[in-house]
Amino acid sequence: MRALVLEKVRELRLRDVELPTEPGVDDVKIAMRAVGVCGSDLHFYEHGNIGPFVVRAPMVLGHEGAGVVVAVGSNVTNLKPGDRVCMEPGIPDWTSRASRNGHYNLDPKVRFWATPPVHGCLTPEVIHPANLTFKLPDNVSMAEGALVEPLAVGMQAATKAHVTPGAIGVVVGCGTIGIVTALAALAAGCSQVMITDMQQEKLDIAARYPGLVPVNIGKQDPVAKVRELTDNWGADVVFECSGHPKAYERLFDYAAPGATVVLVGMPPGPVPYDVVAAEAKELHVEHVFRYTNVYAQAVSLIASGKVDVKPLISKTFPFEKSVEAFEFAAQGLPSVVKTQIVFE
Ligand code: ZN
Repeated sequence: MRALVLEKVRELRLRDVELPTEPGVDDVKIAMRAVGVCGSDLHFYEHGNIGPFVVRAPMVLGHEGAGVVVAVGSNVTNLKPGDRVCMEPGIPDWTSRASRNGHYNLDPKVRFWATPPVHGCLTPEVIHPANLTFKLPDNVSMAEGALVEPLAVGMQAATKAHVTPGAIGVVVGCGTIGIVTALAALAAGCSQVMITDMQQEKLDIAARYPGLVPVNIGKQDPVAKVRELTDNWGADVVFECSGHPKAYERLFDYAAPGATVVLVGMPPGPVPYDVVAAEAKELHVEHVFRYTNVYAQAVSLIASGKVDVKPLISKTFPFEKSVEAFEFAAQGLPSVVKTQIVFE
């Protein structure tokens, strides 16, 4: 089957690959319609690894997918051919200790699309477990369906933050994950979410959402802005979504006493962590790794109109131009949030 293959660092090819074609009894076969290009795909393309995950053999990229069911295994009752769906890309061993403890995202044996050595979904047809495949209502487009995966990360972050009605939030970093985290925090009950970045074009996209307060850290002191928004008290919930080493230096300055700080971004190495600053405010610090049990809710939020992910889609390429799509996304243009690849 044709697929977008990362041969090795900086070498992508659209070529035939041997991939499974028959669904097992609990699987569905899906014709792909839209796949988002993720920061992690780009990182594997440009650097060949993310931490301990190293690309050692050719790997099909893509993990943010939506499509149409074309066949179902004999045990599958919740889906049928013709259903429009999105897919949760991490397949854990449901009998593992992590899964039984409620952390299936932390199962060391999880097989996650386009995390080496597991092939991703940038190919016209994929096989996937039915219980990780979620129906899209008719009013949710395939492009929106392919944004459920990043939204799920924001949902996990908002859930970990225990957002309460009217809370004021801060999100550091206005990329896809920063914006979807801010939108999830708003949906969870935040009255306002300040979102910071250096790239004005990205902040301009955030500015289209009521409730988001964009702050360009090159022009304005973000800590002063939080104080202004909160009567000098600080934010109730703070989300670090940039992974930029510098972002951690002032992270706790945003937080109110007793606030929750959620670390979502992945810095390239160890970063400064001001223990005393966190202690003096008795901050709750949470960490996010992917997500658990949020996909159905993410689809519902999009379908209800409470979360609109459409403004995040900056550019779309046909599957045949997948290599160009990656070259385009790798430029990291300030005006580009999400690049997607679509199948006819
Ligand atoms: Zn992703």
